Amino acid sequence: MTSIPDAKAPAGEVVLEAVGLTKHFPVRRRLRDLLTLEPSSWVRRPAVHAVDDVHLTLRRGRVVALVGESGSGKSTIARLLAQLHPRTGGDIRLHGESTRAHGGAAFRRYCSRVQMIFQDPFASLNPTHTIRYHLTRSLRIHGHAGDDLDGALRELLERVQLTPADRYLDKFPHELSGGQRQRVAIARALGAHPEALLADEPVSMLDVSIRLGVLNLLRDLRDRLDLAILYITHDIASARYFADETVVMYAGRLVEGGDSESVTQRPAHPYTKLLIDSAPDPDHVARGVATVDGEPPSLVHPPSGCRFHPRCPAAMARCSTDLPVPLQIGDAPGHWAACWLYDQAGDQA
Ligand code: SF4
Repeated sequence: MTSIPDAKAPAGEVVLEAVGLTKHFPVRRRLRDLLTLEPSSWVRRPAVHAVDDVHLTLRRGRVVALVGESGSGKSTIARLLAQLHPRTGGDIRLHGESTRAHGGAAFRRYCSRVQMIFQDPFASLNPTHTIRYHLTRSLRIHGHAGDDLDGALRELLERVQLTPADRYLDKFPHELSGGQRQRVAIARALGAHPEALLADEPVSMLDVSIRLGVLNLLRDLRDRLDLAILYITHDIASARYFADETVVMYAGRLVEGGDSESVTQRPAHPYTKLLIDSAPDPDHVARGVATVDGEPPSLVHPPSGCRFHPRCPAAMARCSTDLPVPLQIGDAPGHWAACWLYDQAGDQA
């Protein structure tokens, strides 16, 4: 297991950490498939290597953007951190304490501190219930309804800038726009009074014209409530605009990280460079999806060595055999990349 160079810890108390986090999903095999295999390989059950050895730190009052193509494992990390999937290996630490909460009171306690915001606000709200119902339920489950429930509901809607509250409380989700629904989903998460928000592509299903407003709202909540936010996106341009730190993921592994300015303006890893080069318009936030030529690899049989080597324009012989370790890049504190191009010891050897 390798850990990311921590040249200089950014300000902000650590809330949530992934330490060597790993998730492999076993692949179900049908009897017909088994019959085509050698009996000796029946016991070796294939698995999707969705997340391997990921180190991530969320701090109070900071946004970390997790960037990568679809299928790179970003959403799996959010679900692992939300304790919606059991992990295969590594650890999840809340304020330094190892946590494992898959149901019951322990899961509820964990959810009251770590909340998730899903990509599709329509699917995440029950269409048969009003906004009042959704928010009341969140306040009650987490013990924040208090004596003045109506006041608490209004405060939640004001926090997400849905005012006057009376206009929204008794509406159903289908009566709101996509942006308003996502604001309700955020208000529901805030009903738990969380310390960390895990926002899984929170604007990708919204109209371009309203994405910026939702990102600005999340940034405002970061500052006013001192929240630790994980912002998952495939849009590296929005990471630069919105996040304090950016980490880039490829095929289940983190490949580069650091402060957002360094990673997006002086990218070091060939994959990050290609992501930025293929972004439609880096000066406009959330304009579109960056794509890199070629196909992402199979995660059932991921490439050996550097997983990016079959697509990398700078690949060398060792790239297909040796797994790159995270290496400090230049003088920027905390900027690292897992790429053999930066292995000066290896160069000298
Ligand atoms: Fe490319 Fe090699 Fe660096 Fe991987 S380790 S990104 S294959 S140069």
